[in-house]
Amino acid sequence: MDGVCRLRPHVARAPGVIGFSGGGRTVPGRGDVRVSGPAKNAPRLARRAREIRPSPTLAVSRTLAELRRRGADVVDLGVGEPDFPTPRFVKEAGIEAIEADRTRYTETPGEPALREAIAGKFRRRGADVSAAQVLVSAGGKQALFNACQVLFEEGDEVLVPAPYWVSFPEMVRLSGAAPVPAVTRRENGFRATLEDLRPAATERTRGLILNSPNNPTGAAIEPGELARILAWAKDRNVFVLYDECYELFLYDGRRHASPADTWAEHADHVLISGAASKTFAMTGWRLGWAVAPADVVAAMSGYQSHSTSNASSISQAAALAALTELDRAKDSVETMLAEYALRRKLITAALNAIPGVECPAPDGAFYAFADVSALFPRAGAAGSADFANVLLERAGVASVPGIAFGDDRYIRFSFAAATGEIERGMERFAEFVRGL
Ligand code: PMP
Repeated sequence: MDGVCRLRPHVARAPGVIGFSGGGRTVPGRGDVRVSGPAKNAPRLARRAREIRPSPTLAVSRTLAELRRRGADVVDLGVGEPDFPTPRFVKEAGIEAIEADRTRYTETPGEPALREAIAGKFRRRGADVSAAQVLVSAGGKQALFNACQVLFEEGDEVLVPAPYWVSFPEMVRLSGAAPVPAVTRRENGFRATLEDLRPAATERTRGLILNSPNNPTGAAIEPGELARILAWAKDRNVFVLYDECYELFLYDGRRHASPADTWAEHADHVLISGAASKTFAMTGWRLGWAVAPADVVAAMSGYQSHSTSNASSISQAAALAALTELDRAKDSVETMLAEYALRRKLITAALNAIPGVECPAPDGAFYAFADVSALFPRAGAAGSADFANVLLERAGVASVPGIAFGDDRYIRFSFAAATGEIERGMERFAEFVRGL
């Protein structure tokens, strides 16, 4: 059964949006506004807070925390962050910033030198980007969140190809707009195509969020397809957010397709977001960026000035080193990529060797998205959340249920984990399936 289409794409607020679902109950006559049964005298939460969907990964996180508390030996292939340390030269730049007392506010949109370095990264790719078109923020997530806040509003629809990163629909919803999934096809490796987007578009479509390489599928959009999608979006006056935070993690010699490659044609309706988080193993430093039309950047900066102000001055100094000491940065990334490439082979081979599991090799990023739906009946699982929970409880392997990403047939394993852990996790998974 196709676990994807639980949503009628055109009805933006229909209950049961693929993976846009969660706990709480629906208030009759108020669409899918959720309430969580407030205790007596509990403060009234604003509607926007009540509408945030509890993450479908919550049950798994709770079980994981409980197992750990009890001292259980859990193999964690759930968490999506590099297990590598931040490269030494980057750490040193951060330490130097502290020692030099560069510990004060910076300009809200970022230190001029860092904005210039980010613009330079795009210029090296052939895109004519100036520092005024760059916003530095606390992670790629904040850049995308700010963008949704300044670009979308009530009545707008924003296309989100599914499977999608969990935060995209919520960010769109928090802007007042409605996320509309556009289902990508498995036989096409989940790479978004114009054909996937077209049926989900309406006259209300104002935005499109693309992510390549993709979390959770690893799918990388083909350059020709990206060009077609961008031309279509421009024609329909659709603003495109392009999240390329995994841009350097591509396998089998694939080349990253970026709107930067056709910037001259698309600079007025595209925002590209990126981050130091994955590229330089800096998730905790909280440093990301967006490149967009200068007026969009100015609006995002204004918005950020009233929320968090600048990204950490120390993290900015570290990121500046990562983005300007190019040879050292290249060495660090290549070392990580070579290791991820080995792990990718290891995990996809191990998964496909388990009867009932199918896992296409990801084009990029560091996730294996495995179809485990054939095992649901034997595991007594109604869907991916149940399955992930059973796998964790009975085999001690943590994964993320696909429902969080809009496809309930799958579970996601991260291979940003030590090789030994991946091997242990896969042995346990195979053993678990043998015992079903
Ligand atoms: N986009 C995608 C697709 C991601 O997977 C993540 C992190 N999981 C982010 C954005 C956010 O990254 P950051 O830590 O830089 O905010």
